Amino acid sequence: MRILVLSDIHANLEALEACLGAAPEHDLVFNLGDIVGYGANPNEVAARVRELGKTFVRGNHDKACSGLISLDGFNPVAGLAAIWTQQRLTQENTEFLQQLPHGPVSPLPHVECVHGSARDEDEYVLVARDAYPLLEQSPVQITFFGHTHIQCGFSRDEEGDLWYTLVPKYTSRTGKQSFKVHLKQKAKYLINPGSIGQPRDNDPRSAFILYDTDDNSITFYRIPYDVPAVQKKILHAGLPDRLAERLAEGR
Ligand code: ZN
Repeated sequence: MRILVLSDIHANLEALEACLGAAPEHDLVFNLGDIVGYGANPNEVAARVRELGKTFVRGNHDKACSGLISLDGFNPVAGLAAIWTQQRLTQENTEFLQQLPHGPVSPLPHVECVHGSARDEDEYVLVARDAYPLLEQSPVQITFFGHTHIQCGFSRDEEGDLWYTLVPKYTSRTGKQSFKVHLKQKAKYLINPGSIGQPRDNDPRSAFILYDTDDNSITFYRIPYDVPAVQKKILHAGLPDRLAERLAEGR
């Protein structure tokens, strides 16, 4: 079975369509949350992801933009974007976002999907130190997580050694690129597909992964998309300029 794992689309329709167009054939789609927030196409993206699959966890922006939580913890730019999104989401899409499940969800017996982490949906797992206790406690072989917008993975073998193996190595920052990793049977993994709509790992290309259960592999992808078109939409929509600028930088 081949599974497309998407995260942090953030209402970026052009990036989502570019990734779907470039993605290899697959059987299922897992979505790790933050479908909306920041970008100019929240309704279009919400409608599109609902067609793709049934496995979702909610992100902090999904909660904020559908009114489930206050904006107190948001920085001013994120807060303004959330208010902008609240005002434009249709009732149907607001309700769709409100009913998204709290992670972890377990779409396969050996897999969990979370937004931040299994113990806290808003936790940022950025470095090996953050990942270590999670890998120790995890009841499953693979946890897919998002939230940080950084494409990477952490792994722990059965002897308890920790290593930061899954840093995809790309030969350039342009064009479509992929990086395949074979998973070990007796190791646990935390894997972040990166962000479709707001990459923050110094690479402006959109990010996702394909998990192939047949050969037990993860393939990381980076896909270019029309960044200037998306920037123009964000500026015309009256969203904060910074949200457009950062797309070109990938941070
Ligand atoms: Zn996000």
